[in-house]
Amino acid sequence: MSDSPDPWQEYRKRRNLALLAFLGYTPVVFVFAVVTIRLFHSETPAYVAAFSWMALYAVAGIRFQMFRCPSCGRRFFVKWWYHNIFAGRCVHCGLPQICRPRYAAITVVVSPLHSMTSGQNVKLIP
Ligand SMILES: [Zn+2]
Repeated sequence: MSDSPDPWQEYRKRRNLALLAFLGYTPVVFVFAVVTIRLFHSETPAYVAAFSWMALYAVAGIRFQMFRCPSCGRRFFVKWWYHNIFAGRCVHCGLPQICRPRYAAITVVVSPLHSMTSGQNVKLIP
């Protein structure tokens, strides 16, 4: 996963690549096959392109399914006995898609001045 401040950017990249590989297979391979058959009078380049695109789709699909949840760090769509690429929430912690992880919502403010003025007994650990 990237170190981007928005963890869902990586999710969108993986999803879009998998969709492109899935939806683009037929038109791209078909056009490539028509052009190469007319140019070279051989079907071999078309088969190479078809199998290469299938490999691209397999890699993109597996990579998409291996996306890790920004909140719990486990696979967002996959459990050891279950997977659902259309899941709207993390199958482990229930984090909805395209939202900020839970740790981003927690803000801890430590103010020694506040603890001194409010009379609270606060120990500061160096
Ligand atoms: Zn999760």
